[in-house]
Amino acid sequence: MAVVLVGVVVLVSMAELIGQRAIARGAATLLADLINGDPATVAAAQARLQASFREAINRSLILAAIAAISAGLATSLLLMREILRPLQQLAHGSQRIAAGHYDERVAVPASDELAAVATSFNQMASALEQVEQQRVALIGNVAHELRTPLAGLEGYLEGLIDGLFRNEPATFHLMQREVRRLRRLVDDLQALSRVEAGQVELHLEPFDLAALVRRVVAQIQPQIVEQCLDVVIAPEGNDAPLLAYADPDRTAQVLLNLLSNALRYTPAGGCVTVRLAPRAGMARVEVHDTGIGISAEHLPYIFERFYRVDRSRARASGGSGIGLTIARHLVWAMGGELTAASDGPGKGSTFTFTLPLARH
Ligand code: ADP
Repeated sequence: MAVVLVGVVVLVSMAELIGQRAIARGAATLLADLINGDPATVAAAQARLQASFREAINRSLILAAIAAISAGLATSLLLMREILRPLQQLAHGSQRIAAGHYDERVAVPASDELAAVATSFNQMASALEQVEQQRVALIGNVAHELRTPLAGLEGYLEGLIDGLFRNEPATFHLMQREVRRLRRLVDDLQALSRVEAGQVELHLEPFDLAALVRRVVAQIQPQIVEQCLDVVIAPEGNDAPLLAYADPDRTAQVLLNLLSNALRYTPAGGCVTVRLAPRAGMARVEVHDTGIGISAEHLPYIFERFYRVDRSRARASGGSGIGLTIARHLVWAMGGELTAASDGPGKGSTFTFTLPLARH
């Protein structure tokens, strides 16, 4: 409307200034020719002509202005409906989300740009909703995990008070086991919150991954009685170091975690094999076992916090279901990837992690 008004004002002024002068000149010549040059008659005719012309111009300008203003108003209303309403909806939606209503979504308008904004808004809302669901699930899981050892401790204490358990070292050892379980859970939770927040301090350096794998395997070997544990370093017979660029302590932690899982889920007589080889510019460590395996339906979830395929079995062996989550975050932080594969129940599992190779 402002543009239309400016246009009208300019037009009126220009018509006054330029148009009148040009018309007056043209009319004077024409009238002088017609009435043999009588100056008074010419002047009167000229004035009339000027007045009627000005009136005609003004009238058409007024009409044009009314038409332009109506068009402007109609367009503004249309735009307001097209742009303002979706924007108002977005503003309202974001306020609802800020107030904790994560299920809020906005209608996607027809206009391309606004549709893109609304779609992004809805995607953001569902991501927030998912985070919220995970947060609620996490609290539930933590409470559930804490309850088990606490219930155990409570049971022993009540037994002691009621005289069901004797006041002797064996009872206290049982209680100590529950306290240790609690401590391990709290330590795991703390480690998990650190890795997920990206707050783990990493000391990245080039080191010989082959030597580290042999050391970790040698460290765990004395504890194994029922299964076999082999190391295969490729290319075979090559004792040259395989230089990785990562944090050696964290790498050992990840490997230890995968090895103890493999041994825990491999029955007596089974075998665990660690293979190490450079592959596609990365160092690749593979922990393969001939154990109970993982079915395809569980496989995508085993890296999620607190996820356990067989809850009772894992809990009985002290597993909280956080180990793999921490391991994956550590490998990610070092620039690698940790994946799992299994041909199904009873067919063993393979956990593979990669680390960047050290450049000379
Ligand atoms: P946990 O402490 O319970 O072992 P993890 O995060 O280390 O927790 O593992 C999550 C789940 O993945 C385990 O509870 C188990 O069901 C499954 N899992 C891990 N490693 C193996 C394996 N080598 N063979 C079969 N299942 C495994």
